[in-house]
Amino acid sequence: DYLFKVLVLGDSGVGKSCLLMRFSDDRFTEKYLRTMGIDVKARSVELVSRVMMLQVWDTSGDKRFNSLMPSNYRSAHGILLVYDITSSKSFQNIDGWMKEIRRMCPDKVTVLLVGNKSDDPNHRQVSMEQGFNYAHCRALGFEEVSAKSGMNVYDIFSSLAMDIYHR
Ligand code: GDP
Ligand code: MG
Repeated sequence: DYLFKVLVLGDSGVGKSCLLMRFSDDRFTEKYLRTMGIDVKARSVELVSRVMMLQVWDTSGDKRFNSLMPSNYRSAHGILLVYDITSSKSFQNIDGWMKEIRRMCPDKVTVLLVGNKSDDPNHRQVSMEQGFNYAHCRALGFEEVSAKSGMNVYDIFSSLAMDIYHR
């Protein structure tokens, strides 16, 4: 079968670990999940006629703890690049993450831009258009999600798997 490796990147606090917990266990916690180094979780997604296994690497987002080796970047098939729609800072930092990806990852890596915490519109600082335009200009996929409500979470993993498969 197919095993694809996916990295979840983005600033600390944007909800990377929560997204992965929602995807792998269908749970959510208000707690800050301290990620020291990396966590690896696997789950399969069902596409039209295939089941694909995603091995998802959760990263700390904190340079001090970024223990991802260059080989981890080089072997990645896909990347979920996450910001928090209630934090314009996390969105501004997406540029820095893109540079890191261009520097470290293979040219053919598939990147999906993800705006998390869409359940909290009262604190929104990044509009849907800003996210969409950023992704559109760079030919990336884009989706707003909520690890809290679960909205679109399965979809980002399956659409990334689909893109990787058809690449
Ligand atoms: P990470 O550092 O990127 O792994 O972030 P975490 O997954 O640890 O989440 C950081 C904080 O954001 C925690 O307090 C979570 O409860 C909260 N959080 C994560 N996802 C969501 C979401 O979709 N909606 C809301 N409202 N809060 C979230
Ligand atoms: Mg984390």
